Amino acid sequence: MGDALDFDLIAIGGGFAGLCAALRGAELGLRTAVLEAGADDGYLCSSRWAGGIFHVSYHDVKLGREELIAAIDRQTDGEVDHELAAAIAEDAGHAVDWLASQGAAFVRGSPIDWHRFTLAPPRAAIAGQDWRGRGPDRTIDRLRHRLEERQGRVFLGTRAKALRLFDRRVVGVEAAHGEEAMTLRAKAVVIADGGFPGNAELFRRHIGPRPDRVLMRHAGTAIGDGLKMAEAAGAALVNLDRFYGHLLSRDAMENEGLWPYPQIDAVATAAVVVNRDGRRILDEGLGGISIANDLAQLDDPLCGTVICDAPIWETAGKAAQIPPNPQLLAGGDTLYSAESLESLAEAARLPAPALVGTVAEYNAAIRDSRLDALSPKRSTRSGAPRPIATAPFFAIPICAGITNTMGGIAIDGHGRVKRPDGTTIPGLYAAGGTTGGLEGGGALGYVGGLIKACVFGLRVAEHAAYDKQRGKA
Ligand SMILES: Cc1cc2nc3c(=O)[nH]c(=O)nc-3n(C[C@H](O)[C@H](O)[C@H](O)COP(=O)(O)OP(=O)(O)OC[C@H]3O[C@@H](n4cnc5c(N)ncnc54)[C@H](O)[C@@H]3O)c2cc1C
Repeated sequence: MGDALDFDLIAIGGGFAGLCAALRGAELGLRTAVLEAGADDGYLCSSRWAGGIFHVSYHDVKLGREELIAAIDRQTDGEVDHELAAAIAEDAGHAVDWLASQGAAFVRGSPIDWHRFTLAPPRAAIAGQDWRGRGPDRTIDRLRHRLEERQGRVFLGTRAKALRLFDRRVVGVEAAHGEEAMTLRAKAVVIADGGFPGNAELFRRHIGPRPDRVLMRHAGTAIGDGLKMAEAAGAALVNLDRFYGHLLSRDAMENEGLWPYPQIDAVATAAVVVNRDGRRILDEGLGGISIANDLAQLDDPLCGTVICDAPIWETAGKAAQIPPNPQLLAGGDTLYSAESLESLAEAARLPAPALVGTVAEYNAAIRDSRLDALSPKRSTRSGAPRPIATAPFFAIPICAGITNTMGGIAIDGHGRVKRPDGTTIPGLYAAGGTTGGLEGGGALGYVGGLIKACVFGLRVAEHAAYDKQRGKA
């Protein structure tokens, strides 16, 4: 194929990050290509599965720079790469405008203010999968179509295997199209393969011992190829032990119809999570992402059961857009209820004296404002805890679901891949779920998978075009 496989920019991965990079590059006059491991036109990726809500740390993407930086700082307790936070805060509004200019349709997904930019049509408020033909799925197809209109190439069924290096500079990609090996030259390579939530070995090494007991709440296509390629090229990797995820009914481990929604996060953070011994094991007040991470680190990640009472079930249980109350019952998930904690323990096969003791101690700590004295302590980051005192009582066996890894390849504000000494690797960029530094600090602060993919997808293309113009690439 000769010159046909020589590009200015190659993106590894055809999710939002890779398509934004390749399309923006083509718009700026670069010869661009996407290598996508999926072989079909409707290839799976987490981007297609997204709820489609563009937000910045649960804030409207159109807020001003300073407000968005403050929102990210609050979410992350300031443990964030400030250059990356500034990039998101400066470009979030521009990114949704650019997507709209490429044919993406946005609607207000709900009355919640940060749902103002939701890709249309939004998913239905039902349990289980509902992504085909929804906004993110359509937008991925639309971006690919636009890219091909601009003469960008999309190589489906093509898995990037290794980066080509010359004199410490990345100069291309080795790939496989089925059995056929391919060599592609490029002035800039963008790793946009989504991260490593679907790689069991990397999960075990960095996150927890039992990936088989954690719900894979993603498309299964992000398997760590990019991380390994970047590491081999000398990249720094950050916060690999943290992930973005949610709590789901434990039945979702066996039943496809029960995930990615409803999530149990709001109920768990308003109540207590106990293990098989009826004891609290983590700080529920830190929120659903934190609880999911804590469970995933255990030898037995499926040990958790949420215990709540009627007022919590009627309020927090109904708080989400796709709420567990009544969706859990509609979906046939296990939900135990009883008029006393003793009977609840019996139904849920938990030791009654321990459970009654745990709840009594918890209620007393709330009453006496002594939450710090609990072990583990109970913080109030996600709201004030409420006593578990009014029948009927409920028990929901839960599991942790991993949506995407929060850490990954270290980048600078232009998406250039950094070495451990802070210098950048010429010719190598990364964008989207495969990158680290923005999310996954101490407070497990979440910024937003879609906005991260699109802002950095655009930024890497703009920097690659700038480099080309200066004759550097
Ligand atoms: C159920 C669900 C709901 C979500 N809802 C939201 C939401 O409402 N708002 C939000 O902000 N975020 C949401 N997210 C997160 C968001 O979808 C992701 O963070 C984002 O789409 C990641 O985009 P990406 O392009 O980096 O990766 P991906 O979409 O994972 O794309 C990576 C692509 O790379 C390909 N690939 C992998 N390895 C290779 C290789 N070696 N060679 C070639 N190709 C390769 C894969 O096949 C895939 O197509 C949600 C995620 C899920 C799963």
